[in-house]
Amino acid sequence: MIDTEFKECIGCGACAIICPSKCISMKISEEGEYRPVIDRGSDCINCRLCEDKCVALHKIVDVHQIGNAYYGWSVDSDVRNSSSGGIAYVIAKSFLKDGGVVSGAVLDVENKCVFHKIISREEELKQLQGSKYVESYLGDVFIKIRENLERNVPVLFTGVPCQIWSLKTFLKDVKQDKLFTIEVFCHGAPRVGVFKKYLAYMETKYGKLKQFNFRSKKFGWNNASYQMKFAERVVQEKHENNIYHLMFGYHNSIRTNCYSCQYRGYERSADISLGDFWGIEKFYPEVDVRKGVSAVFINTEKGEQIFERLHGRIELYQCKTEEILEKNKWFIMNYDIPINQKKFDKDYKKLKGSIFIKKYEFLYKVWYRIAHKVKFLNWNNAYEIK
Ligand SMILES: Cc1cc2nc3c(=O)[nH]c(=O)nc-3n(C[C@H](O)[C@H](O)[C@H](O)COP(=O)(O)OP(=O)(O)OC[C@H]3O[C@@H](n4cnc5c(N)ncnc54)[C@H](O)[C@@H]3O)c2cc1C
Ligand code: SF4
Ligand code: SF4
Ligand code: SF4
Repeated sequence: MIDTEFKECIGCGACAIICPSKCISMKISEEGEYRPVIDRGSDCINCRLCEDKCVALHKIVDVHQIGNAYYGWSVDSDVRNSSSGGIAYVIAKSFLKDGGVVSGAVLDVENKCVFHKIISREEELKQLQGSKYVESYLGDVFIKIRENLERNVPVLFTGVPCQIWSLKTFLKDVKQDKLFTIEVFCHGAPRVGVFKKYLAYMETKYGKLKQFNFRSKKFGWNNASYQMKFAERVVQEKHENNIYHLMFGYHNSIRTNCYSCQYRGYERSADISLGDFWGIEKFYPEVDVRKGVSAVFINTEKGEQIFERLHGRIELYQCKTEEILEKNKWFIMNYDIPINQKKFDKDYKKLKGSIFIKKYEFLYKVWYRIAHKVKFLNWNNAYEIK
C-alpha cells in the first residue's frame, strides 16, 4: 500500500482511482494541498496497483530532449481570453474539429477550486482558456482518457508537467499513439487551500464572487492583473499588488513537492511545452506584445504534426532556447524554500481565512516589498513580479 505521507507526492490521485477496493481518497491536507488518504485500509488486498501507478515512485515515461524553440501567437481574435499568445487554445480548437477530445483545467468559482475535465465541443473550449494559478484536481479524468484511447479517439491532454508524466505512467499498458500532450511551463502550483482562504476573504469584503480571471489583459499581457467580478462590483488588481499573486510569486503558497520538482530540466515528456515569452522585448523589440506572446518548444514528432495542422491560424517564429529561458529559469531548475516558509505554513494551519490573508497582505506590502527593492534575500527571484 502506498505511503501517503511521502514528500514527492504531486497530488494526482492516480493511486485513488486505480485502487480496486476503493481504500484511498483524495482530500485537502492540513497544509492545504490535495493528498491521498487511506480511509478503508482494512479492505486492502495488497495488489500494489497504487504504488505501480504512482509517478513519484516510478516515472514510466518516454522522455525527449527539449525541442526547437519558437515564439508566436494565435491570429484568432479569441486570443484575448488566453493567458499568453493563445497557442493552447488554437491547438485545442483544431483538435476538436478533427474529431478528438481535449482535457484541460477549468475554474469552479462556486466551489473555489480548479479541476480537469474532458470536452468534445467547441462551445466548451472557453472554459479551458486562461491560466488558473491553483493546483488542478484530476478526479477520474485519467480513466476517461484511457477509455477514449481504447475506443481509438484521439486525446489532447493539457496540464502542468508533472500531470503529463503522471498520465503517461498511468497509461503505461495502453497504446498511446493517439495521445497528444501539451504542458504549460510551471514554476509551481498554488495549494487549493490558500485559494479557498483568499476567495473567502475577498467575499467578506465584496460579497458573492461571480467570475475570476487570473490573467486579465486589461492593462496588456506583460502588465497582467486579476479581474474579479462580484455581484455589485468589479475588482481589478495588478499582479504586483494582489496578495494571492504575491504569495504565489514569492513561492510561499505552492505545493510542498514543487520545491523539489522532479519534472524540470531539459528532458521533457510532453509533445509541446508552452509558456510566456517574458523579456521578449530585449531580443525582438519589433514584436507587438500587447495581446500576448507564447514561448513554444516542440519536443516530439507528434508535436510537429500538431503544428503542421495549424497552418494560417498562428504566427510562429524560430528563436533560441536560451532567449526563452532567460526569464523562465524555473522551467529547468528548482528554487530554494523561502526562509519564512515554516512560519507561513504554521500560520496557514492556525489562522482563519481572513486573518491569515490580512496578515500576509500587510507583511508583503511592507516588509517584503522593501526586501525586494533592495534585492535582499533573493526576493528578486520572484515569478512575474516587477
Ligand atoms: C500553475 C501554473 C504555473 C505557471 N507558471 C509559468 C511560468 O513559470 N512561466 C511561464 O512562462 N508560464 C507559466 N505558466 C503558463 C502560462 O501561464 C500559460 O498557461 C501558457 O503560456 C499557455 O498559454 P496559452 O495562451 O497558450 O493558453 P490558454 O489558451 O490560455 O490555455 C491555458 C491552458 O493551460 C491549462 N491550465 C490552466 N490552468 C491550469 C492548471 N491549474 N493546471 C493545469 N493546467 C492548467 C489549460 O488546460 C489550458 O490548456 C503557468 C501556468 C500555470 C497553470
Ligand atoms: S495495495 Fe491495492 S488494494 Fe491496497 S490500497 Fe493499494 S491499490 Fe488499494
Ligand atoms: S503522486 Fe499521485 S499516485 Fe502517487 S501518492 Fe501522490 S496522489 Fe497517489
Ligand atoms: S512545479 Fe513541478 S511538481 Fe509542482 S506543479 Fe509544477 S510540474 Fe508539478
